[in-house]
Amino acid sequence: APRVGVLALQGDFREHLHVLTSLGATAVPVRREAELAEVDGLVIPGGESSVMDKLSRMFGLAEPLKAAIASGLPVYGTCAGLIMLADRILDGMAGQQTLGGLDVAVRRNAFGSQRESFESELDVPAFDGEPVHAVFIRAPVVESVGPLASPLGVLPDGRVVAVEQGALLGTSFHPEMTHDYRFHARFLDKARTFASAR
Ligand code: GLN
Repeated sequence: APRVGVLALQGDFREHLHVLTSLGATAVPVRREAELAEVDGLVIPGGESSVMDKLSRMFGLAEPLKAAIASGLPVYGTCAGLIMLADRILDGMAGQQTLGGLDVAVRRNAFGSQRESFESELDVPAFDGEPVHAVFIRAPVVESVGPLASPLGVLPDGRVVAVEQGALLGTSFHPEMTHDYRFHARFLDKARTFASAR
């Protein structure tokens, strides 16, 4: 079983630890550089991306995280985690930075106050099976996908809400709040590959 971490500075990291454990992984919270060095994959949970950004810099984790991403560590970002992985934010808070890695531009407050939270069926061709029932909570949207990244999931209106780029995976929505863990399983496949190559 791969040993994976969940960034545990802020947000719904406990739910991700439960999902990963239920899929047979050894899942540990990551708050320090030494803990990051011991995992073969990392989930960045939902929460508030501007707070997660500040805390990761304050705890000296931002640079180690960027280095880990550059070295090919599999990372799956959900919601705020997707924002953290985006190379570009279109409506960040003043001074808000990201770790980057995904060649995409995201808009944090994409769905507006009327649509703070909603659910939708999502066709994910890579899963060639049942559509994904996706839960969105003040979700960002991927406004543009650069040449290095690929869309994985698109809403019926055409908006991109799941992307992949090599070892990196990002979703606007929260699979940890449903019982469909195919994105987590895809992340764990990447972690297994990474572990066996190192
Ligand atoms: N809107 C939040 C942000 O900007 C993300 C919300 C979430 O993670 N559920 O970080």
